[in-house]
Amino acid sequence: MEKHLEALKDAVTRPLWHDPDIMPEPLAPISSDQKCELLIVGGGFTGLWAAMQLKERKPDTDIILIEQTFIGDGASGRCGGFLSTTLAHGETNTDHRFPDEADLLQELGAQNMRELLETLERYDIDARYEKTGETYLALSPASAKEMHLEYQQAIAEGEDVVWFDSESVREQVNSPMVFAGVWDRGGQDGVIDPARLCWGLKDVLVNQLGVRIFEGTRLLDVKPVGDKAMLATCEGGVIRSDKVLMATNAFTSTIGKIRRSVIPVWDYQIATEPLTDEQLDQIAWGKKSRHALADAVNMFHYFRLTKDNRITWGGGGAVRYYFNNGIDEKLMNAPDCYEQLAREFFELFPQLDDVKFSHQWGGIIATSTRFCMVPGVMHNGRLAWSVGYTGHGVGASRFGARIGLELLGYGPTDVIKMQFVTKKSLPWAPEPFRWLGVRLTQRALIKADRNNGKRGLWLKFLDMLGLGFTC
Ligand SMILES: Cc1cc2nc3c(=O)[nH]c(=O)nc-3n(C[C@H](O)[C@H](O)[C@H](O)COP(=O)(O)OP(=O)(O)OC[C@H]3O[C@@H](n4cnc5c(N)ncnc54)[C@H](O)[C@@H]3O)c2cc1C
Repeated sequence: MEKHLEALKDAVTRPLWHDPDIMPEPLAPISSDQKCELLIVGGGFTGLWAAMQLKERKPDTDIILIEQTFIGDGASGRCGGFLSTTLAHGETNTDHRFPDEADLLQELGAQNMRELLETLERYDIDARYEKTGETYLALSPASAKEMHLEYQQAIAEGEDVVWFDSESVREQVNSPMVFAGVWDRGGQDGVIDPARLCWGLKDVLVNQLGVRIFEGTRLLDVKPVGDKAMLATCEGGVIRSDKVLMATNAFTSTIGKIRRSVIPVWDYQIATEPLTDEQLDQIAWGKKSRHALADAVNMFHYFRLTKDNRITWGGGGAVRYYFNNGIDEKLMNAPDCYEQLAREFFELFPQLDDVKFSHQWGGIIATSTRFCMVPGVMHNGRLAWSVGYTGHGVGASRFGARIGLELLGYGPTDVIKMQFVTKKSLPWAPEPFRWLGVRLTQRALIKADRNNGKRGLWLKFLDMLGLGFTC
């Protein structure tokens, strides 16, 4: 059996973070009709942070949060756990889409990060946060050259970045495929255990702040009644509320405007067993450094160490869009994606040839046509949403929650007057064009990566329309 298949043989198909030993008991589903001031739909970071921020500002607000399965079952509990400051999916996307607001977005991102970490400290939530910064690796001499130009520009702009040339990078992360690296160590970017964050927030909301959470409770329909109330129909009862915040991200929404804003893109990951001391010695990483890593290509891998020195490894080409917004849980069963990930893992770290993978899993990323959050509001300010963070939602979702609350009239500030909030996001095309478009784009990105990043005609056409993906 080939090495990568052998290494995957005993992997369980479950997010590494969903450790049964620490997963809290799900709370009971709704079983009778309820009333509240604010109903939050969705128990991921957006929903949880919305409840947290509002309770801290207005402790007497009566909030119900419903979640169709369990808290942290969506992207929030399955992601890579890279916690970054960016609110609009990285500097390139921000500069391209919101050039006049880039500085303000950076400031707001730093404030959001500060407040997020302060909240964890205030409530003693152990999300296993580790301040690592962000490190990008160049996998070819051409990419190293380009990266060095970006590094020089970052230095000129006063950023706290460190350059690793072909020799020094291997002292940080020893791989024959790596030619250079740049470490952005300014700010507070780092990694977390995402499910621990979800469950820590849940615990505080329920046990300290009096939020009522119903798990196993799916929203079927929501509509206004009269001009003061909203009525949400769930499987076990109806909820009458003054306002509703939809925090359902990539999941099919009952609201057309949300449905057209995002598509669910499956992103897959694998995780190793904890590495031994000898294995860590072989790759230097984990001994000399604990970088949070990504390779500097379009179809990038993201990989990091956990507290117990496992490597989680995701992305690359193991990303799928299934026709007509497929989100069935069965799509977690994606052997071709796991095999591809394992094969690529051993290409980067051939010396780890005795490593086994313990977990394999997938989750859905809400991708918007602007590749960052799409907030919105309707029904005279009684129903709002914040969805579509694409690949950068761990930190940004807290800010998305804030925007959602402000759009509902809770402490509105100038933030909701920003173009970032008011500018309409282009809707996705209907099927089959959507499926064809995503497929063509994915192929074109892979081709560009093989061609030292040179973008072909299709990507140039998308760039011209303002739909080009950059990371
Ligand atoms: C594999 C993967 C890796 C990622 N890695 C990173 C990373 O390293 N760093 C980063 O910044 N971002 C990453 N992301 C993106 C990030 O995880 C998300 O942007 C973020 O978690 C979004 O949070 P959310 O609360 O908006 O959505 P979710 O966590 O998806 O929560 C939405 C919730 O709504 C619930 N729901 C949906 N419909 C209904 C309904 N009708 N009734 C009741 N409940 C409903 C769902 O069950 C779900 O729990 C990754 C995503 C994936 C999938």
